[in-house]
Amino acid sequence: MHNIVIFGGPGSGKGTQSVKIADKYGLFHISTGDVLRDHIARRTDIGKVADSYISQGALIPDRLMIKILEDLLVSRKEETKHGVIFDGFPRTLPQAEELDKLVESVGAKIAAVVGLEVPDEELAARMIRRGIDSGRSDDNEQAIRHRLAVYHKQTQPLQEYYAASGRYHAIKGVGTIEEIFDSICAVIDASK
Ligand code: AMP
Repeated sequence: MHNIVIFGGPGSGKGTQSVKIADKYGLFHISTGDVLRDHIARRTDIGKVADSYISQGALIPDRLMIKILEDLLVSRKEETKHGVIFDGFPRTLPQAEELDKLVESVGAKIAAVVGLEVPDEELAARMIRRGIDSGRSDDNEQAIRHRLAVYHKQTQPLQEYYAASGRYHAIKGVGTIEEIFDSICAVIDASK
């Protein structure tokens, strides 16, 4: 079981690269953003709560987010047995600690964390561009500003958490999709 976390600011290309990683390495792709947007589209109780946070560019509270992830891993036990590419989770220290516990409880580990490093101005420009046809409630200027601030305050410190256990690998997240993918594959291959 080979579990990878893809890490980076909003708009850093996590989703695009995760699809390619899942395909090449046979991993199950879990995007917590996609999971939440699906709840919103289906108007579930979780979707109603998530909507108010997402549209403002704020994080869903840890307790709820961790419960959603736990339930997903239980219900997708079969699909996740060869490993998972975690995209958009963890975003806080409690989430990172919980994820380590969860994977350790099934005798596995997070083998590598791939950090896509992209300057803020580039992230903002990408999200504005994406907003033209993404239909996402959070790809607007106000939410984008907030998402970047939340990333720097709550999520970026996780680089140190993973670096302390030798699992953080910075990747230059600017370039062509294929160039970035090649750098990511080199990290994943070395973590096997
Ligand atoms: P994403 O698609 O990964 O950019 O996520 C979109 C939004 O979903 C984020 O701005 C948060 O509001 C919410 N979200 C996704 N993943 C998480 C998470 N791990 N913890 C808290 N909120 C999350």
